[in-house]
Formats: sequence, C-alpha cells, structure tokens
Amino acid sequence: MAWWEQPGRHRDDSCDLCEEARITEWFYEDDDCWVAECEICSVPMVVWRNHDHLPPDDVKAALHERLGAVVDEHFTYERGFYVDDHMRNIPDHYHAHARPKGGFFGHGLRRR
Ligand SMILES: [Zn+2]
Ligand SMILES: [Zn+2]
Repeated sequence: MAWWEQPGRHRDDSCDLCEEARITEWFYEDDDCWVAECEICSVPMVVWRNHDHLPPDDVKAALHERLGAVVDEHFTYERGFYVDDHMRNIPDHYHAHARPKGGFFGHGLRRR
C-alpha cells in the first residue's frame, strides 16, 4: 500500500515534497518519511510522508531521530547540528533540516 493510501494520510499533487522528485541524494526512506539532501541548503532534510504541516509529537520525535541517524552515518558536523523545522518555502508540508550549529547552509560539509 502506498503511503498516501494509509488512513489519515493525504497527498497533494501540486506539492514539491509530495512529488518526491529525486534530484539529490536520498539517504533513507520508509512509509513514514524520507531523508535527502536539500537542493537549496545542501544539508540533509527529513520529509514526512503526509501533506500536513503539524505531525503529532511522537511522529515528530521519530522524524527527528531518523534525521539524526542519517547525520551520524553520513556527515561530520564539526560543532554538531540542530534541527530546524521552520518551514520557509513549503509551509504546509512538514519537513526539517539538520543544520550545522552556528550556520545555516551545508556547502562543504564533511562526509563520512
Ligand atoms: Zn533547504
Ligand atoms: Zn506535500
């Protein structure tokens, strides 16, 4: 069953995050989320597989945990990272970036 057929899930055909164009590297995916490099920020970003801006707390915590696992596996953030879920460009579909502490973009981030 596709993720958008599951109860309570919604997909919006006009939404870039629902479209899931694989234009950058994907690090992880399951029925609940995917984690890929953000094409604008060059940091890993977790995207909820539901066209909704407000996941329940337990879902949000699981998404952040998944994002952190991708960071640990693939990147070296010298001063650590913070989860930024202020949604600037696509405010109606929950996603969060792992940004380097003290910074915003990830160009030149060291990879493991
Ligand atoms: Zn971004
Ligand atoms: Zn969407």
